[in-house]
Amino acid sequence: MTQISRIGIIGGGQLGRMLALAGYPLGFTFCCLEPTANPPMGQVAQQISANYDDEAALLELAARSDVITYEFEIVPVNAARMLAQRVPVYPPPNALEVSQDRIHEKRCFERLGIPTPIFVDVNTSDDLLSAIQQTSLPCVLKTRRFGYDGKGQWVLRTQADVAAAEAELRQQPSPTGYILESFVAFERELSIIAVRSTTGEMAFYPLTHNVHRDGILRVSQAPSTNAPQTLAEGYATRVLNDLNYVGVLAIEFFEKGGALIANEMAPRVHNSGHWTQDGAVTSQFENHLRAICGLPLGGTQVRGHAAMVNLIGELPDVDGVLRAPGAHLHLYGKAPRAGRKLGHINLVANSEAELQARLQRATHL
Ligand code: AMP
Repeated sequence: MTQISRIGIIGGGQLGRMLALAGYPLGFTFCCLEPTANPPMGQVAQQISANYDDEAALLELAARSDVITYEFEIVPVNAARMLAQRVPVYPPPNALEVSQDRIHEKRCFERLGIPTPIFVDVNTSDDLLSAIQQTSLPCVLKTRRFGYDGKGQWVLRTQADVAAAEAELRQQPSPTGYILESFVAFERELSIIAVRSTTGEMAFYPLTHNVHRDGILRVSQAPSTNAPQTLAEGYATRVLNDLNYVGVLAIEFFEKGGALIANEMAPRVHNSGHWTQDGAVTSQFENHLRAICGLPLGGTQVRGHAAMVNLIGELPDVDGVLRAPGAHLHLYGKAPRAGRKLGHINLVANSEAELQARLQRATHL
């Protein structure tokens, strides 16, 4: 067993909670830095209650940790850099910096020869029309930073949409600017969960098929039929090596005509990898911990067929879920609120047909 036993996590949400739950069997202890009261991770681990940029609290986290990671990507990069002078911080702060800004992220994909939608930097409403000449309609306008789950995004299909977006940019400009992207009429959305250890060892889960509604992930499924796994692993390998990455990295792609077009990456465990808790030999959470501690990585094969259904806004009938064959319930300890991710159901099955039948049932629970 490694010397590393105390894991510090910036953020105290459900991803931190699931990291802790995956790490206790390996003998790790956990402490999170999180300002909110009774957060999902605080319910199962130690908590330092302070803001993510509170210097004294960051130093306390460093003193209580052998290694530090994070569970959301809006961590202040300066805080991560400051911590990295004291304790190893993984994924490396430069990966955090790249993925916090959609322009930097897409430039990184471009530099590494990974296809990505046409994109243009937009700062003011005056830039919008010339940017649309490059992407043409339809296109997608997004805030450069701090957008998630479809927030801060507008699909522009008509001149009326363009006029409305121009007005919005004039009235309430985002202080960090925008990116305009060509709209990809994709066939499927696929993501790859990749992991790289401090030793350089890498592993990849089978491509996951994701279905979003209103910009929020609803259902994930793996393995995906006829998915371009080798292509995705090649792209992920370029990013992992380029960023000297350590930990789990998720890359979301649009699949179109056999090509994979990178949409975005997340330098952390990812919602589209939650099925691995019950549907893979080793979960993404355990493999993230193994990676940041330099331990051998675990198998990433699917156990049969697996899916995940997000529980958004309201809690399900618990008895019904637990009675459903092949279903596993994961709740985050959060109070119900419209649009809030409260938990998920993982489903496992022996065949694609059985999985589809179980998915049908689970989406009505
Ligand atoms: P994002 O926050 O970039 O992951 O976007 C959320 C969702 O919006 C994606 O999962 C897609 O379903 C959709 N989307 C985002 N960008 C594009 C695009 N350039 N073309 C088509 N759909 C998009």
